[in-house]
Amino acid sequence: MSMKKASRNQNLLPYHRIVAKFGTSLLTGGSDSLNQAIMSALVEQVAELHRQGRELIVVSSGAIASGRHKMGLTTKVKGIPLKQVFFSVGQGRLMYVWEQLFGQHDITVAQALLSKADLADRSGYLNARNTLLALLELGVVCIVNENDVVAVDEIQEAKFGDNDNLSAMVANLVDADLLLLLTDTAGLYTADPRADPDARLISQVAKIDARIEKLAAASPGHLGTGGMVTKIEAAKLATASGVSVVIADGRKPGAILRLAKGEAVGTRFVPAASKLESRQRWMLSGLTTRGGLVVDEGAALALKKQSRSLLPAGIREIKGKFGRGDIVNIYDPEGNRLGCGISNYSASDIETIKGTHSKGIVRRLGYDYGSEVVHRNNLVVL
Ligand code: GLU
Repeated sequence: MSMKKASRNQNLLPYHRIVAKFGTSLLTGGSDSLNQAIMSALVEQVAELHRQGRELIVVSSGAIASGRHKMGLTTKVKGIPLKQVFFSVGQGRLMYVWEQLFGQHDITVAQALLSKADLADRSGYLNARNTLLALLELGVVCIVNENDVVAVDEIQEAKFGDNDNLSAMVANLVDADLLLLLTDTAGLYTADPRADPDARLISQVAKIDARIEKLAAASPGHLGTGGMVTKIEAAKLATASGVSVVIADGRKPGAILRLAKGEAVGTRFVPAASKLESRQRWMLSGLTTRGGLVVDEGAALALKKQSRSLLPAGIREIKGKFGRGDIVNIYDPEGNRLGCGISNYSASDIETIKGTHSKGIVRRLGYDYGSEVVHRNNLVVL
């Protein structure tokens, strides 16, 4: 195992800390089992970056496909328990292959199985973060997957649902510079390339807006769980935290190496913000968001342009139920998410004080927790 002590600031390479997500359709090459030749080519590139002194985390799907193959049930069987069984069977097999392939390059691998519930709690988030950072420090390549055994659909709240969102969460956790979503399609197209001869690849997206989301929804699905929609969701979360994101075809020879050099491959998403502090990234991750507040034009402007606190006067509408201290999303009148923050008041309190001047809070509620519903120190504006 190689020990690495290089500090991030000393490193001159454009992307030092990289999270690479390999989707099922990439790892199986579209077949019903893991494709070792493809996996080996991916490992060679990750190993090369590792030799250059970069820090890498791999988010690997493919456990369910591997388990399904082992069990001899090659057709897709619906139903969560069976999927979880496949995952249980396949995860060890998947790790075995990674261990062998990285071993050929003298690289030690680790496994981290995460679930949303683990990370929703601030201390779970910090513990996972510390472990991943320690592994990076030691030059170990951590292979992350969602813990599908505990993360079931029935508990919607507790499931990431797909490794695209999980990988964005991991990039957010470790404050990565680059997130690679590697799949078996070249990136995001202007139309379905199989149906429309004029369809072209979008090489760069400056901002993920409604138009981009619509293109993703219209993109053809493939074997993996996510498809383009979850990749765009993931790109949205990661770019909001200041991470560059690329969706690219991982089968292209040298794709990872080229992307790590900053070459144009696939669709690149420009970070929407400069790097945020860990606490702000945690707030933005949406892991613990309980509800939302819709504000008027004036408040939206004050939040965005003047970094002001959110006062009751600017609040129009309350979404969902939340308590004092919960994290809430903040939306402008058109429904665009402006950011999020920690609410000083519960949803029902805000229902009573919305639209009023802060001086009227005590009169209406009989108590007050301050003039701000969300103080600017507890606010992240996108
Ligand atoms: N956790 C699943 C697996 O290992 C993959 C989920 C996904 O592809 O998004 O097979």
